[in-house]
Amino acid sequence: MPIDKYETPCKNAITLAKTSHCVAFPPPTHTRRSRMQRLVLPVLLASFWTICTEAGDWCYQSQFTCDHQCNVPEKWNHANDNCAGKYQSPINVVTRKTLKDERLTPFKFDNYQEIFRETIKNNGHSVQVGVPHLSTISGGGLPTTYKAVQFHLHWGNNGGPGSEHTIDGEQYPMELHIVHMKQQYTDLTTALSDPEGVAVLGFFYQVSNSGNRKYDPIISALKNIKTTNGNTSLNPISLAQLIPSEQNMTSYYRYKGSLTTPGCTEAVIWTLFENPIPLSMDQLRAFSELKFQDGKAMVGTFRPVQPLNDRQVFRSGGTAILASSAFLVAAIVTALGLSQPN
Ligand SMILES: [Zn+2]
Repeated sequence: MPIDKYETPCKNAITLAKTSHCVAFPPPTHTRRSRMQRLVLPVLLASFWTICTEAGDWCYQSQFTCDHQCNVPEKWNHANDNCAGKYQSPINVVTRKTLKDERLTPFKFDNYQEIFRETIKNNGHSVQVGVPHLSTISGGGLPTTYKAVQFHLHWGNNGGPGSEHTIDGEQYPMELHIVHMKQQYTDLTTALSDPEGVAVLGFFYQVSNSGNRKYDPIISALKNIKTTNGNTSLNPISLAQLIPSEQNMTSYYRYKGSLTTPGCTEAVIWTLFENPIPLSMDQLRAFSELKFQDGKAMVGTFRPVQPLNDRQVFRSGGTAILASSAFLVAAIVTALGLSQPN
């Protein structure tokens, strides 16, 4: 086959912009079609149609090839209208435009230390772990108590840029999402019908020189779930062991947005913690060993940042920010003291 088959945009393909399907045509080698070609074309179209439909309603940019066309993030609105909404996630946080909000106090984590045995699954888009609905969060400027439902991750290619949210344009190698719903609900579907029904805690990762032993249960399970729908039992873990210590979670950003995968429901109170979680390069690379449904490496599992539109991003009055303002106050006092005549 000619090399240009893999060029983008696909030369022999037409994407039907208004549907969630795509159709690829064979190259027009003859201007006049034989009777056989006239018969074959609809069959080919039908088969491509099936491929596109079977590929699922959506995919990440890294999954798209001319042979395997699917709805990339720019076309997720074909999978669900919500994805073209005004208040979508992820976003880039421009820190100098964030507004400090005194109500964004430290979170209260309950049962985050609780050790549980659960299954880790390759769901074709990510790795996901369902958690017992025992761990809860409150405070942190949240309107009520939310209970943990599941966590999953978004990553790049072999430790390259892969977070969904970015901070001042910086994309971290990976991002953890711990998904919570209001305590009164029993399932996420119901919670998503409430505009504040879901609270997601987002954590970034940074490359460290040594491996993070607290992540061993997850990293070692990955080799058993390389294929889509693969699942295995996770060695006992707690949510607390996956995230920074409580005193390192007082600095965070807050905004209202959506799920970052279709249906893109705008029902999420987002919290993005400033302090990243350390993982070694080898640990980060282990995620790139997973496979999408078509057998290709599961990499680049992030949605590009979405327009902020008229939203405001708030920041907590955390220790890092407090320390800098205390320093500023001290500097002003010193300056005033020095300039005052005796
Ligand atoms: Zn996510």
